[in-house]
Amino acid sequence: MHEAVGQRTFIGTGVGRGVVAGPVLRMPDHLPEPSEEPFTGDPVREQERAAAALAATRAELEARAKRAGGHAQDVLEAQAMMAEDPALAEDVAARIAAGRSAERAVFEALATVQQMLFNLGEAMAARAADVGDVSQRVIARLLGRPTPGPPESDEPFVLVAADLAPADTVLLDLSMVLALVTSGGSATSHTAILAREKSLIAVVGVTGAETFEDGEIVLVDAGAGVVTGSPTKREVRTARSTAAARVRVSPRSPGELADGTPVPLLANLGSIDGAAAALALGAEGVGLFRTELLFLDRRDPPPVAEQAERYGALLAAFSGKRVVVRVFDAGADKPLAFLGSGTAEPNPALGVRGLRALRAREAVLRDQLTALALAQDANDAELWVMAPMVADLAETAAFVTLAKELGLRTAGAMIEVPSSALLAAQILGVADFVSIGTNDLTQYTLAADRLLGPLAAYQDPWHPAVLRLVKLVGDAGLASGRSVGVCGEAAADPLLAVVLVGLGATSLSVTPAALGEVRSELRRYTLEAARAMAMDALGAASAADARSAAQQ
Ligand code: PEP
Ligand code: MG
Repeated sequence: MHEAVGQRTFIGTGVGRGVVAGPVLRMPDHLPEPSEEPFTGDPVREQERAAAALAATRAELEARAKRAGGHAQDVLEAQAMMAEDPALAEDVAARIAAGRSAERAVFEALATVQQMLFNLGEAMAARAADVGDVSQRVIARLLGRPTPGPPESDEPFVLVAADLAPADTVLLDLSMVLALVTSGGSATSHTAILAREKSLIAVVGVTGAETFEDGEIVLVDAGAGVVTGSPTKREVRTARSTAAARVRVSPRSPGELADGTPVPLLANLGSIDGAAAALALGAEGVGLFRTELLFLDRRDPPPVAEQAERYGALLAAFSGKRVVVRVFDAGADKPLAFLGSGTAEPNPALGVRGLRALRAREAVLRDQLTALALAQDANDAELWVMAPMVADLAETAAFVTLAKELGLRTAGAMIEVPSSALLAAQILGVADFVSIGTNDLTQYTLAADRLLGPLAAYQDPWHPAVLRLVKLVGDAGLASGRSVGVCGEAAADPLLAVVLVGLGATSLSVTPAALGEVRSELRRYTLEAARAMAMDALGAASAADARSAAQQ
């Protein structure tokens, strides 16, 4: 999707607006799957090789754990224990005895463990990734290859990788990382989300990134989405001063365009703990509170009183401000046992999820809305509730009616299924507001599962098909005079945030770390300019073209 321009400049999707120059350290590539060919050599020797590689991996992981400290230490210690697990050693030995090479036996034995963890559901996915990492380490030792995974260095570096898996990022010492550059990934990939959360400079989806060599100096300009090899001093100076000019806005000022058009900037939160930090970064309220994240570990629905207390604490933290709470969004990447997620579905993204799961167990929805109404009545924040994965008018009406019946004052719908974007005018006839979830809207518009790495390039909300759907919603909002928020990751891309406002978004909700950059960028454009940029982007034929059209 992204191309190399000239020999030294490579274009990708920037995350954030920062600029940095530094030496490259590459992440060794993942090892290919070892061959299934029957092993014809000496099995005793093969057993010894496998045992030695497992022991050495365990020792290496223990040593790294001691150096790491904190959460990374726990992960590394757990991995060291996996490597020394006697059941694993036995399984590997049995596979070698059955005619496998040491590499293949280790691969198969750990893949079985990984599969078992995957079957336990999303909550175990990170553990499964850790097992995959152990497997790669042991196989690398057997092959005498560099250990895959994040490099270590005492000097700050620009990490260049194909992409970062969750397990890689846990192991990465972020204090040494000047910037992330990946050849894979998209604006909603794990790398981009991590970069946004940690305020790291990143450019993802850079075709040609693999040509950078260890030690080579590169200039990473996230605002421009450009990585330049061997930059001149002048290039570094210019990029730095442009970046500095972009962020000269007080974090406390409200979101607005250059002509004073207000664009409230709200925070996406998944826990009440994040409230203070969001407020410190100038959040004008909450635009998406993901309630399902509070109760991922529960087998039974949380009682009304407990829910009311948690929601009350959130509302108290945002006293006097707008707080948009989403009712449980269960399914696919966010399983909730008490809503029946976890039952095997051939296609979970298209399954019984979001509002569909809640309507199948209406008692859970009633309890949640009752708890929200209790919290609303005991606080002076302005509570808005919304339903996820709404498909059409009938679903919106059912949700809004129930919410009102249970005492909630403001009820709306998320627009994240293409059908609801197409029918936004009807939906806004009954909903008090809508909020566009661009993450799901993108996956459904492009029919590309947002959890699948190989399809990450499709998960680009700059795609003109997605922008056209957003425009339909924006137009419906304008005609009805009702609020159209955007709460997907798209709103955290500063330039896209401007385009979304040009398409009709009236508020934006982003991960708190992105508030500053989005606020600064909005101040650079009038509503007229934002609309012109939106029109240019709408006319593009691809996500990359839409971005460049808006940029120009
Ligand atoms: C979205 O889909 O854009 C969204 C905000 O919801 P989530 O990422 O939680 O599915
Ligand atoms: Mg969603």
